[in-house]
Amino acid sequence: MSATLLDGKALAAKIRQELAEQVTRFVEQTGVTPSLAAVLVGSDPASQVYVRNKRRDCREVGISSVLHELPDDTSQADLLGLVKQFNQDPQVHGILVQLPVPPQIDTERVLAAIHPQKDVDAFHPENVGLLVQGRPRYLPCTPHGVQQLLQRNNLALAGQHVVIVGRSDIVGKPLSIMLAQRGLDATVTLCHSRTADLPAITRQADILVVAIGRPKFVTADMVRPGAVVIDVGINRTADGLVGDVDFDGVREVAGHLTPVPGGVGPLTRVMLLVNTLTAARELESERTTTPS
Ligand code: NAP
Repeated sequence: MSATLLDGKALAAKIRQELAEQVTRFVEQTGVTPSLAAVLVGSDPASQVYVRNKRRDCREVGISSVLHELPDDTSQADLLGLVKQFNQDPQVHGILVQLPVPPQIDTERVLAAIHPQKDVDAFHPENVGLLVQGRPRYLPCTPHGVQQLLQRNNLALAGQHVVIVGRSDIVGKPLSIMLAQRGLDATVTLCHSRTADLPAITRQADILVVAIGRPKFVTADMVRPGAVVIDVGINRTADGLVGDVDFDGVREVAGHLTPVPGGVGPLTRVMLLVNTLTAARELESERTTTPS
């Protein structure tokens, strides 16, 4: 058996098309163009590529974006000052600080300084809290991408046993909360580096999501025949980009499988655009209903 591949690239293109139409309608109705302010601190080449791609995505759907590039030795105070400026700027709807930031900067402080309504990455503690309570303002981009990949491919979640490997704040942990919420109704097991007998648990999964950053870590013997396998990992190796799943081996066992690249990555990017449009809607609707 060879798994059906879940084409994230094609799905992302479809969602971008839908979004472009929604952005056009929003601009017609309000006269306002949704706008994202991106901040890049330092000269990390991977971060530069990520930010460039995010800005290109914005252009494609009619969202405007500005990029502020700051040098490697930027102080925390200067970065916080810039975030404050964006918080107060009515023309900015979404703020993105590309991570990682250089070591002299406290990431958590910077993320907490972004106005929660403009926090399109959904990393602010207020937005994390709302997510946990089941009334999210924004869904974090990668977990949302995984959810869309499952739902738009008609892969049932309700009552399914989802095993997530990796408990980071940006992928595994929020995804575990989202999929277990009322309405999605999955039964979730969250695994990490201290999990005992990991293969015994991953073999129980109807849906296995892997986000650990270890090339080809999940092998065929760790997968239940017919399971859905979502590979979030992106690892740069001598053989190019590979996921956390041993694609060739797992493909022979799984029912559905995401490729890397072309799986979750393109959906993560598109979800940032979804959040930026949502931010623009919220902020503009507040502005028009708040008496001056
Ligand atoms: P992270 O912050 O480094 O967290 C890694 C997690 O994996 C930790 O919870 C760690 O456990 C767990 N882990 C590490 N080794 C393990 C092992 N041998 N067995 C079980 N669990 C193990 O990673 P991240 O930021 O979530 O990223 C994970 C991967 O996803 C990376 O390859 C990253 O590039 C990729 N990624 C992709 C996208 C996308 O859009 N496709 C988005 C974000 C990240 P402990 O907590 O116990 O240390």
